[in-house]
Amino acid sequence: MSESRAKAILNESSDLEYPRVHRSRFDANQTVSIGNVAFGGDRFVIIAGPCAVEGLEHTEAAARIVKDAGGAVLRGGAYKPRTSPYAFQGLGLEGIEHLRRASLKYEMPFVTEVMSVDAIEEMEPRVDAFQVGTRNMHNFDLLKALGETGKPVLLKRGFGATLREWMLAAEYVARGGNENIIFCERGVRTFSQETRFTLDLAGAIWAKQETFLPVIIDPSHATGLPRLIPGLTRAAAAAGLDGVMVEVHEAPETALSDGDQALTPTQLTTMISDLKPIIEAVGRTL
Ligand code: PEP
Ligand code: MN
Repeated sequence: MSESRAKAILNESSDLEYPRVHRSRFDANQTVSIGNVAFGGDRFVIIAGPCAVEGLEHTEAAARIVKDAGGAVLRGGAYKPRTSPYAFQGLGLEGIEHLRRASLKYEMPFVTEVMSVDAIEEMEPRVDAFQVGTRNMHNFDLLKALGETGKPVLLKRGFGATLREWMLAAEYVARGGNENIIFCERGVRTFSQETRFTLDLAGAIWAKQETFLPVIIDPSHATGLPRLIPGLTRAAAAAGLDGVMVEVHEAPETALSDGDQALTPTQLTTMISDLKPIIEAVGRTL
């Protein structure tokens, strides 16, 4: 946290609903770092990796793919919130260890989902950032507990949550003392059948205007369709958002989770190189 931020005085008598995350607190955007990667500053950050951690070799291969393509942060789920109880539920703590080793080997920080308050204690010393998934955005006990940790929180929007509810979820975390929050729009449920969810790009831009904290999008879960991911990534960059989180897999057809929406390594590399002119045009870096 920057010194100015630590020193910022919070107006407790404010009548704002979410004063701790509201833009009015600062004159400028504030950055939040995962490891050595700052979000909300000059850099448009690419987070990429498999939906689920599948093993050590697989995770190291994924880290190499992300690094070679030009991504900055590794992702991967070890605790998986699956729609079906019969689907692969993730490797748990063993998966976190795989992420840690891959992250050290390729010198790239990682983010991974936390599903329960009970898991925080063993995860906190091991992870670079906690991800709160769409299904847990309303888990207030989890949000409060993460507020007491010292690690950044990537807060996905609930797929049925209003923007106000999303801001208030972040306020729960911030109120506990942890202001290192990155908002992630990952699509909301609408009548649209052609995409998995509907990316609320307007909502993400609204969030960017509403808070001083970084805002990114997850076009993988929002669409479920690899072919729509590069365009939405370019749109996010052009709109002044702070990055994207995307899923990539060395062999999507064999993935244990979300294989249908995973980019191939080649698609990720192409997506990032096609993004470069946009990044330059908006005066940012990758
Ligand atoms: C994920 O990122 O793997 C995930 C489960 O995302 P969401 O919570 O947005 O569905
Ligand atoms: Mn997924």
